[in-house]
Amino acid sequence: MDFSWTDEQEIWRKTVRNFAQKKIKPRVREIDTNKKIPEEIIKDMAKLGLLAPTASQEYGGAGVDWTMAAIAAEELGRADISLAIPVLYLVEAAWGYIFSRYGTANAKEEYLPKVTSGDAFCGIAVTEPEGGSDIVGAAKTKAVKKGNSWILNGEKMFISGITESSKWGGVHLTLARTDPSKGHKGFSFFAVPLKDSPGIETTLLEDMGRMGISTGGFVMENVKIPEHHLLGEPNRGFYYAMEGFSAARVLIGATCIGASEAALELGIEHIKTRKAFGRPLGSFEGIQFPLAEHYCNIEGIKLLTYRAAWIMDRMYKEKKCTHHDVALAAAISKLRAPIHAFEVMNEVADWLGATGYTKEYPIEMGIRGVRSYSIGAEGTMNIMRIIIGRELLGKEFLPYK
Ligand SMILES: Cc1cc2nc3c(=O)[nH]c(=O)nc-3n(C[C@H](O)[C@H](O)[C@H](O)COP(=O)(O)OP(=O)(O)OC[C@H]3O[C@@H](n4cnc5c(N)ncnc54)[C@H](O)[C@@H]3O)c2cc1C
Repeated sequence: MDFSWTDEQEIWRKTVRNFAQKKIKPRVREIDTNKKIPEEIIKDMAKLGLLAPTASQEYGGAGVDWTMAAIAAEELGRADISLAIPVLYLVEAAWGYIFSRYGTANAKEEYLPKVTSGDAFCGIAVTEPEGGSDIVGAAKTKAVKKGNSWILNGEKMFISGITESSKWGGVHLTLARTDPSKGHKGFSFFAVPLKDSPGIETTLLEDMGRMGISTGGFVMENVKIPEHHLLGEPNRGFYYAMEGFSAARVLIGATCIGASEAALELGIEHIKTRKAFGRPLGSFEGIQFPLAEHYCNIEGIKLLTYRAAWIMDRMYKEKKCTHHDVALAAAISKLRAPIHAFEVMNEVADWLGATGYTKEYPIEMGIRGVRSYSIGAEGTMNIMRIIIGRELLGKEFLPYK
């Protein structure tokens, strides 16, 4: 067992931290207010290899492994606790990887270089208006093969990056039924361009947080997709989606750790200087004990999360771990990290007193942003518990068929 970082990992962390602290952190309030990530930040991220960094180098990706991807997620979360930039980063890292792994050469050539250069977006569209957790039961979106095309009909809802995809271009990897008789074995995955696609109508939702990236939905009415936009094999889409969700969950864990660390550091600065009853707040047990608890939790969740990234690297590089190992480790991280990040931020807001309730500090942006991940983006907390239960008890104990 070795807990040290390699030289390459240290340099990568330093590079991303340096960039994120200088170029992103000072602009987080502006991003939250303007509801937009400035173009120059996107371009700088592209130059550093931070857009779909896990995609293969052939298509402009940095080809980083999951430990490196998690390091960058942590640093971006530390700089932008509203989590808008981390969302853009981690959605593209997870789903850009799945596109890179299963997409056809033609589709990848068309879209991936633009995603990695910041000129297009790569998102994920699984959830539908009638349900996200039970997508197998709820999904109505269908795809039917006609000649050299697929025809898609249906609606996707609560989807990140709708404005980005429809303005910049790019694709949302979209899950659709191709064999309704086969349950989860009857879904396929398609790269669906939202921009200038006849038959697609987008809608936008007003979120509570992570304002720099949009959320919305799209209706597909007889949308014609070229044959080569199918990812991998037909009827394997559900498995590709689950693989991408595990990856995204590990990066969510890492980014929530970064945001927790930033919040705690801000809180520590405050309790060292702010006085009450003639003493610094930090000298009271009522403040120091929760500080110690939160610090221990961050350290513990960090270990769990980097272990999950390491398990993913063992699976992809050495085939020494399975998808089950990855799903379990990713669910543990996703279950713990966002809930704890929310608790740390809430605690720090208390320490800040009345200013904790103002926009003087970024804490309120953090609370609004991190809630997206404890409510359900990339899977709800109960779904994480169900995955953990399934891995411990076996699939015959799943609460559904
Ligand atoms: C900000 C944001 C961004 C998102 N971005 C995307 C995206 O880019 N792409 C995408 O496809 N989706 C996206 N989602 C959707 C997300 O994946 C879904 O919200 C999530 O899967 C939950 O689905 P739902 O909202 O339909 O809730 P439901 O499935 O209706 O669940 C409601 C509640 O019931 C609980 N529940 C459900 N089943 C069980 C059970 N068996 N046992 C116990 N409790 C249960 C859930 O845990 C939850 O608390 C996003 C969501 C948010 C909030």
